[in-house]
Amino acid sequence: MVDSHAHLQHERFDGDREAVIERAVAAGIERILVPGWDLASSEAALALAARHPGLIQAAVGVHPHHSAEMDETAWARLEGLAAESLALAVGEIGLDYHRNLSPPDAQRAALSRQLEIAATRGLSVLVHDRNAHADVTEALLAWAAAGPGRRGVLHAFSGDRPMAEALVAAGFIISFALPVAFRSADGPREAAAVLPAGTFTVETDSPYLGPDRDRTNEPTTVLRVTAELARLRGVEPEDLVAPIRDAHDGLLATSVAFGASGPEPAARHAGSFLLGVLGGLVAIGVIAYLLLLRP
Ligand SMILES: [Zn+2]
Ligand SMILES: [Zn+2]
Repeated sequence: MVDSHAHLQHERFDGDREAVIERAVAAGIERILVPGWDLASSEAALALAARHPGLIQAAVGVHPHHSAEMDETAWARLEGLAAESLALAVGEIGLDYHRNLSPPDAQRAALSRQLEIAATRGLSVLVHDRNAHADVTEALLAWAAAGPGRRGVLHAFSGDRPMAEALVAAGFIISFALPVAFRSADGPREAAAVLPAGTFTVETDSPYLGPDRDRTNEPTTVLRVTAELARLRGVEPEDLVAPIRDAHDGLLATSVAFGASGPEPAARHAGSFLLGVLGGLVAIGVIAYLLLLRP
């Protein structure tokens, strides 16, 4: 199981961060992707990933709320962070017309600049979209069409089925958070019911989007999100675990980097299967030979 989006570097975890991480591991969570929202939180995400190799993965980026804070010095620093080997994605980036804490023009400029940083470094993007479905879709489809291997994830997806399908067709994946369990979330619920397995993942957006407004959300909530997706799709939650992990790993292309602790590359499965068959044939040959030689 994975949590594709959790801000574990947030100060709300300062008192119990390691306990939260231990609970996640105990619940079967194998990777937690920790996105930044400004320079300091991006640096903190990299530091957390360094402390928990193979479990915590870092993304660096500037959230639309903080777009207006960026000057040329800050952009140069972000480019430096994106060049770090532990930076596996650029995020979270995007547009938020709900709160407009930065002017929309500054948000759009920061989004396109970060899309270019991701393309330059060959990194995926983690995209925040609130009340900006049309502009986000347009920006992502244009970006993906402009070069090979450009991909990303729509985090805490709040759009509808046609939007999800258009982005999946362009190579993006969709990430669902707990609001998909709420009856008011018609669009995400419809998308979650029909998207092909392997094109979506799950997240908590911890410490936000929890089941209880007054309590800090944490990665173990992905189990509830997964159960809700299974219910919407008429399958068992266990059936979704492998496709969700594959979608997450494909996004970050981490299967090689994770080595033994990650999923086995398909080629290795095929290889060991062939070796097994060959071994069996050799054994049968040896037994037949010995039987023939018997006086
Ligand atoms: Zn977000
Ligand atoms: Zn977030």
